[in-house]
Amino acid sequence: MKKTQQILAGWLIDGSGGPVQRNRVIHIADGRIRSVRKATPEDGNHPELTDLSDCTVLPGLVDAHLHLFMSGIGDPVIRQQQLHAEFEEIKPVIGIHLKQLLAHGVIAVRDGGDYAGHALRYKQECLGSGQMPVCVRVAGKAWRKPERYGKLIGRAPLNGQSLADAIAGENVKTDHVKVVNSGLNSLKTFGRETLPQFDLDEFRAGVVAAHDRGLKVMVHCNGKRPVEIAVRAGCDSVEHGFFMGKENLKRMADHGIVWVPTAITMKAYSDQLPAGSREAEIARRNADHQLEQMALAKSLGVPVALGTDAGSLGVRHGAGVAGELKLLMAAGFTLEEAIGCSASVGAGLLNLPETGEIAPGKSGTLVAVSGAPDTLPDNLHTARILTPDSGGVIRRLRLE
Ligand SMILES: [Zn+2]
Repeated sequence: MKKTQQILAGWLIDGSGGPVQRNRVIHIADGRIRSVRKATPEDGNHPELTDLSDCTVLPGLVDAHLHLFMSGIGDPVIRQQQLHAEFEEIKPVIGIHLKQLLAHGVIAVRDGGDYAGHALRYKQECLGSGQMPVCVRVAGKAWRKPERYGKLIGRAPLNGQSLADAIAGENVKTDHVKVVNSGLNSLKTFGRETLPQFDLDEFRAGVVAAHDRGLKVMVHCNGKRPVEIAVRAGCDSVEHGFFMGKENLKRMADHGIVWVPTAITMKAYSDQLPAGSREAEIARRNADHQLEQMALAKSLGVPVALGTDAGSLGVRHGAGVAGELKLLMAAGFTLEEAIGCSASVGAGLLNLPETGEIAPGKSGTLVAVSGAPDTLPDNLHTARILTPDSGGVIRRLRLE
């Protein structure tokens, strides 16, 4: 006999960006959502009903940009230790980060790389047994130019090797390719652009090489020219994209290139740096400017995915997702649209067709947050993951 489960959601945000729905019954069988319908008075008598009438139910969330090898803790001693740690030291730290993410309703993440490939190794060695219902997509080590920014997250192609040859010749199995094509935002001069790392022809060949291997390309780039090269080269997502300007956003909308703004990085810098310092002030202006670009992206129809760059100074795993949701809302996205950036746009970017929406045919793994939607994103930390086990019964995931 096929076991089924019914969940009564007091409020349902389906992850598509559409409005909150009140009192919905989600019918799950064999791990899949079969139907979503309005609740009736008879539903209260159903023996298999899980009553979440005091909760808001969401699809599992996606953090489309983070670095699992770093915690985001401000303490410089801890940051230095983590930056140079061996795999055995960082292994339990990554486990904690994944639990922190799950505790905020995040069930899938895209790692943007680390110089030692720790996140890749963790995935290979520690995630096979499936105790944690979290999908980890890894870049391994990012690609950058010699002597340019990106040492902590990647490496340069060998002497004389083109980006395309380096990508084509990579013998490690990663889930996507990460390329660094600019420097960091200046905290001394507002809006100062760095030079692109790769020219258009080299970048374009690199994207073709990645796509030939079936891998998407995520690109760290800030500033008009570095972003223009990545976009014209046909990359799949622009990461950060500070100061990229309207023309790039228009082109991204035309070509369906996803933008992952990571606005919280600059907000966190402005909070962490000494109050009143020039650096803190410029970080704050960078964040404000990014919110203006996010509003523009929304009006132009650019697909925006939520990514936090967690691991960056002051950005913690899981909590950063609540912070970035707030910034999306400050830029003019509704709560439902901001959740959609994480859920459906993020799931599409990570090639997870079963994730990202509460709709028939999708995965029955859901997230319940205590209270009505107006308590979000602040109470995202109350999230519980509901997973259908092999018998189709919902169990609440224990994180400790
Ligand atoms: Zn990053």
